[in-house]
Amino acid sequence: MELPMRKVCANCKNAYREGDKYCRYCGAPLGKPDFIEEDFACIYGPPPMERTHKCAKCGFTWKTSLMIDDEKWCPNCGGEAPAEGGR
Ligand SMILES: [Zn+2]
Ligand SMILES: [Zn+2]
Repeated sequence: MELPMRKVCANCKNAYREGDKYCRYCGAPLGKPDFIEEDFACIYGPPPMERTHKCAKCGFTWKTSLMIDDEKWCPNCGGEAPAEGGR
């Protein structure tokens, strides 16, 4: 069985988002993606909560619903955009 390949940031190996100019995890400009094999890690825990990110520099906002939200860089301008509220 073939494992699916996942597009990731070439710098930090976190999820690569099509259309983003900068990596949301490390702030590096997204050029060519890297590929890693998809792993099927099962994580049990509380349901993911929704968080809002707002870039202080350009005002770009997006929402995440992740168990662990380590996105903190604006995909639009590369500015710092940590999650608001919640924890
Ligand atoms: Zn990255
Ligand atoms: Zn921005």
